[in-house]
Amino acid sequence: MRIILAQPRSFCAGVVRAIDTVEHALQRHGPQVYVRHEIVHNKHVVDKLKAQGAVFVEELAEIPTHAVAVFSAHGVSRDVEAEAAERGLRVLDATCPLVTKVHEQGRRYAAQGYSLILIGHAGHPEVIGTLSQACAPVVLVQSVGDVEALTFPADTPLAYITQTTLSLDDTRNVIDALQARYPQIVGPDTRDICYATQNRQAAVRELSRLVDVVLVVGASNSSNSARLREIAAQGGVPSYLISDGSELARDWVCDAKVVGITAGASAPEAMVEDVIAALGRLANVEVTTLPGREERVVFRLPSDLS
Ligand code: SF4
Repeated sequence: MRIILAQPRSFCAGVVRAIDTVEHALQRHGPQVYVRHEIVHNKHVVDKLKAQGAVFVEELAEIPTHAVAVFSAHGVSRDVEAEAAERGLRVLDATCPLVTKVHEQGRRYAAQGYSLILIGHAGHPEVIGTLSQACAPVVLVQSVGDVEALTFPADTPLAYITQTTLSLDDTRNVIDALQARYPQIVGPDTRDICYATQNRQAAVRELSRLVDVVLVVGASNSSNSARLREIAAQGGVPSYLISDGSELARDWVCDAKVVGITAGASAPEAMVEDVIAALGRLANVEVTTLPGREERVVFRLPSDLS
């Protein structure tokens, strides 16, 4: 069996920064660093940090007053920021700088008098944060159907912003529909889809042309991993989202001569190796990696740690 690895895959700079933030906080403050929500959407990452002493909570109310609290890479709402301040928590904000950029963009448009539209998935933590951080009413659209249902008068000054981890194609369709209905709308085009998402999507599209089946390593609640699986499937290749080698089903790969593997931005490379090992238990494998775009983006740690 030939295995081809997409390039780039696995951790992005925002995820590396978020994990480093928790690890540095543990080194500096000792165990009992509290993390609100999964720091990134990956159980293996969370379990590893738990083993080092991080405590994961759903609500700030679970964190003792004045303790160290880390906000996840997805960002938080203003209510959460206010509650943290009220309770005297020592906050380390691991919100990805690219998510913060979208927040700032929303505030800028709102200050210029635009009514705001956010393209994203309802309920995703990043979307919950961005809806609040824009500091103005924001209408969420998820699909072309949602655009058709908008009730803004035709001449409303409108601007849109986007969730960072959507599929470029999905976003393009929604933006096209917005521009068709409201030609005056302004927005950053697809540039808010972050570099890591764009690169991983381009790489899996290329990969899907070369293989019989695609395995996307990532968690089922990881938005960017789910998009990678969708893109591979749109290329006409059976595609499966898998968090580690234990989830590999023999049926998926028993007829495959060439298996493609990629990993979402929140999935550790160790889990890619785990999936390769699982394939190796089914057949003799030969592993190659596609040439791909080299990523050199590095984000600095939050100022309280750097
Ligand atoms: Fe930041 Fe993009 Fe990574 Fe999300 S996927 S954490 S926006 S770099």
